[in-house]
Order: sequence, then structure tokens, then C-alpha cells
Amino acid sequence: MKIPSVKGFHDVLPGESARWSRLEATAREVFLRYNFAEVRLPIVERAELFRRSVGETTDIVEKEMYAFEDRDGTEVTLRPEGTASAVRSYVEHTMQAAEPVTKLFYFGPMFRRERPQRGRLRQFSQIGVEVFGRDDPGIDAEVLLLMSDLLRAFEIESGEIGVNTLGCSECRPGFRSALVAWGESKRDAICGDCQRRLEQNPLRLLDCKQPGCEALRETAPKMLDHTCLACGEHFARVRQLCEFQGVELALRPYMVRGLDYYCRTAFEVTAQGLGSQNAIGGGGRYDGLVRSLGGPAVGGIGFALGVERLALVLEAQGVEPPSTTPEFFVAPLGSAAEEHAFALAHRLRSAGTGVEVDAGGKSLKSQMRRAGKTGAPYVIILGEDEVAQQTITVRDMEARADRRNVVGLDTNLEDLRAALQAARSTEEQA
Ligand code: AMP
Repeated sequence: MKIPSVKGFHDVLPGESARWSRLEATAREVFLRYNFAEVRLPIVERAELFRRSVGETTDIVEKEMYAFEDRDGTEVTLRPEGTASAVRSYVEHTMQAAEPVTKLFYFGPMFRRERPQRGRLRQFSQIGVEVFGRDDPGIDAEVLLLMSDLLRAFEIESGEIGVNTLGCSECRPGFRSALVAWGESKRDAICGDCQRRLEQNPLRLLDCKQPGCEALRETAPKMLDHTCLACGEHFARVRQLCEFQGVELALRPYMVRGLDYYCRTAFEVTAQGLGSQNAIGGGGRYDGLVRSLGGPAVGGIGFALGVERLALVLEAQGVEPPSTTPEFFVAPLGSAAEEHAFALAHRLRSAGTGVEVDAGGKSLKSQMRRAGKTGAPYVIILGEDEVAQQTITVRDMEARADRRNVVGLDTNLEDLRAALQAARSTEEQA
């Protein structure tokens, strides 16, 4: 009996995984330019970590965590996001003692028990960054510039960075009251969930996806009109610094984020080609978080991008995954040739190129068919004659020509490439 994978948990198959590797390699390169260092965080954390940071009344904590009691009674969970883990690690290892500013990046799977659909999985992968120890607008702008550089390096064409300010503990209560008053005045028109949000987490009123609530939103108060002087100046400076560098930010006055810890600058990146799940990344500032998790009173800011969604956007743009095609396919004919093929493949691989080698028991026709499927530009044919003469025949698939006796069976990679190149040049001149 076949055992299928679990709903919402997907394989990333060969071919597609090449795209993932490239995304991660590109991200790594860009992060290093900005002086971020990698942290590898565990997948299992204490459930309390997310209750206290992400927020008790958020969807993530309320409905979506894979939390369970471990055999020793500890309540643990598969991590639903990376920021709280990064903060936990920062605090646990007193990273601030080594450096007043800590810049971390991470890759890895996150788990949320959401309703699966295109671009929404229960296990998904994020690329994230966090900065601890700076609360000036300059670092917010740097993080936004980093996001913009990343999108360009990934070759995402339609990415748009939307920003908003969420205020701070000084000004948010006033905004919250204004929002509650507005919500009360619309109580009969808003959905049941929003009526509940009105009591528990009024900011989330602005996040509702119900068409009725979405339409009403335009009449809701905006945080931007309720900021204290410091938050207003901070936000204006962030936008100005990005503008100076030519990085466009779209103002989204009703954007709130699905996690409670954000304050001041919040942002979300959207792209085309995803349908309704059009957010490819999001982040923001979280100044009280480190302190609330037992660390020093330092500011923090970060973001995370969803790898599955980045891959979908690239696919929609028609960007092919990078090729993993070997340079040579070695086709031995008969058992005597097989051992020579084995040795030759090993020599070429050790010299640094990709080689696929077949077993000797098959016909040339069937091996050529396999070779064609791999896409290898050169097929090395090792038949009885070649072995007897201690040479090889190379079929140049692009030139559609056989190169006989151009190198010996004991050739190295360099000589082989040079001989194949020379054969092509001679042919082109002729
Ligand atoms: P968040 O941690 O909620 O701010 O999400 C950051 C990014 O992670 C989103 O913009 C998505 O690209 C990705 N993401 C979040 N949840 C999922 C999910 N269930 N499936 C796939 N990607 C997700």
C-alpha cells in the first residue's frame, strides 16, 4: 500500500530544488554584502515563546501551531516563524555583549496549520533577517534597501514594497480607541470575526479579507494620522532615506501585520503571479520584543520571504530553474568497456565536472536515448574498438558530429575539452 505525504506538506523535487538552491545562494551573497551572519535555529521551540511574542489572539497562535506535549511534559511546538526564535537565541547567548549591533539571517522551514491552497502550505520555507541593537530610522531604511536588492538579485520583476507605520506604546492606544469607536459604529455591518476582533485585537479589523469589511475599511482611521511626533518623524525619515536611494515604497495606510510584536515601520512585499496569496514577504520593527523575552532593551527589525512563493513568481515570469545538466554522459558498450567507463567518469568528476555514466549492458541506442534526456552536450562512447585502441569516441550533440581518436582513453579533463574545442573550430573554419 502506498503511503501518501501529509496534506500541506510537500516534496520539493529535483529541478525545482535547483531553483531553491539558487535563491538561497543569491540571498546569502546579498546578506553578506550587508554584513549579516547566518544563524541556524532549531525547528522545535517552547510553545510559550510564540504565545508571548506573536500574540495569544493571533491566528498563528490561536489556531495554527503544531504544539504538543513532549514526553517529559514540556510544551513544545514546531516553530511557526523565525523572529521569536532568533530573539530567543540572541537573548540566550547574550549576543549584545560581543557586539552592540547584531545582524542575523536564517533559512528554514516554518509550520502553520493553515488551510492549504496555491502558495499556502503547512510546511513552508522562509529566508529571513533580523537586526538587534539599533532603533534609528537609518537601519529601517537599510533593511528596506536590502529587501529591494534581494528582489533584484532574485530577478523578481513585479515586486512592490508596501509600508505603513504601526506607532508605538505612546500613540497606539489612542489609535486603538479611534479604531474601536469606528468599529462600534459599524458593528452591524462587519463580519462575526471582526466583531470578536473589536474586543480582542482591534488592529486586526484592518486586516479582514471579507469583501464587506474590506469595502468599509476606507472609512477607518489611519495610524498615520494618530502617530506621536517621534513615530511620525521616524516614519518620514525612513521613507525619505529610501527615496534618496531610488527605492520606491508604496504607502499602505491600512496594512497591519499578522503578528502582534510589530511597532513603527511595517512592510509587506507583493508580487504578481500568485493569485490571492500575493504576499511574498513581510516584516517590520519590534522594539519591545527582546525585552519582553528577557533580553536587554534593544530595538529590533527584520523580515521574512517565503521561498515557495518566490519560486512561484519566478515560474510565472518564465524564469527557468538553473540547469543541473552534466557535461558528459559516458556510454560503455559491453562489460570490458564498463570498467574503463567507470574510471574515466571518476577522473573527470574528480577534476570538477558533472558526469553521468551508464552501465555497459545496454545497446548504444538505448544509452543515447538516456544521454539525450540528461541534456549532456557530449556523449563519450566506449565500445570494443575504442578499448582495443585505447581511445574514446565523443559525440558532440550540438554539432551532431562524432570525434574519433582525438584523445586517449587515459585523457584528463583539460585535454579532452581542448580537443573538443579544437575539433569544433576546425569544423567552423571549413
Ligand atoms: P509572515 O511570517 O506571516 O510575515 O510571512 C512572511 C512570508 O512567508 C509571507 O509573505 C509568505 O511569503 C510566507 N508564508 C507565510 N505563511 C505561509 C504559508 N502558509 N505557506 C507558504 N508561504 C507562507
